[in-house]
Amino acid sequence: MPSCPDCASQHTVKNGRIHTGKQRFLCRNCGRQFVEHPTNKIIDQATRELVDRLLLERLSMAGIARAAQVSEQWLQDYVTCKAAQTPKQAQVRAKKKGL
Ligand SMILES: [Zn+2]
Repeated sequence: MPSCPDCASQHTVKNGRIHTGKQRFLCRNCGRQFVEHPTNKIIDQATRELVDRLLLERLSMAGIARAAQVSEQWLQDYVTCKAAQTPKQAQVRAKKKGL
């Protein structure tokens, strides 16, 4: 299975096909659905580490995207994906009974 384009998790499963017949995958780690794009730019580990460092600075997302030469969309997804990996601190609120 390919690794997730966002969080690089290897924990991916086949998840049907898109209309063009391409295999679609689902990341079990962050829930992202993706299709393998050989033409898509792969964000390598070095770039991810650079982004990680830039995220610690008080830079705008657009600034980080420009500095690391990634798309803002990828960056947004990456940040969301990272957040999904971090163990949740807050307790999930219990659903009210009777609703
Ligand atoms: Zn993922």
